[in-house]
Amino acid sequence: MGAPNRDAIYAQVAPLLSRDVADLAPGLQDPFNNAVEACRMAGITITVIETYRMPKIEVLYYSIGRDTETGEVVDPPVVTNCHNGETCWHCYRAAVDVGCPENARGMVAHIFARFGFAWGGNWKHIKDLPHFQSDRIPVTPTEQDRADFRAGNIGAVWNRYGLGAE
Ligand SMILES: [Zn+2]
Repeated sequence: MGAPNRDAIYAQVAPLLSRDVADLAPGLQDPFNNAVEACRMAGITITVIETYRMPKIEVLYYSIGRDTETGEVVDPPVVTNCHNGETCWHCYRAAVDVGCPENARGMVAHIFARFGFAWGGNWKHIKDLPHFQSDRIPVTPTEQDRADFRAGNIGAVWNRYGLGAE
């Protein structure tokens, strides 16, 4: 079958993306807004690229570079190894991708750290420069988190890490 055209996938994803801060976990919204404001005070303009990622988007991302029938990697690079969202913190509303001037990335990471965000640029294996997630959560969801996700109960995950409503 071959892999679907990656531009066509991105075109399908574009209208589904959320950039809404209100789509983040309740306990992450104020820290995020405060971090963006602190960047603004430092003269750095932050743009929101993606907040919540619906699992349907993860399925589309997963298809990039993979055979549509077998899931085998036939056209690298792939963009994710997660086919259903359960290992992706964006799907738990606990991660956000942001844009900023390239030379400000380090400063933005420094500022965001003060507001409780871990930076994907610090990851050892695949650096994810636009990516920030709560520093209260593990790098990737645990077995228990994933079980809650499959049960449709991400509220339990938020509560586990203090990201629910106060
Ligand atoms: Zn991300």
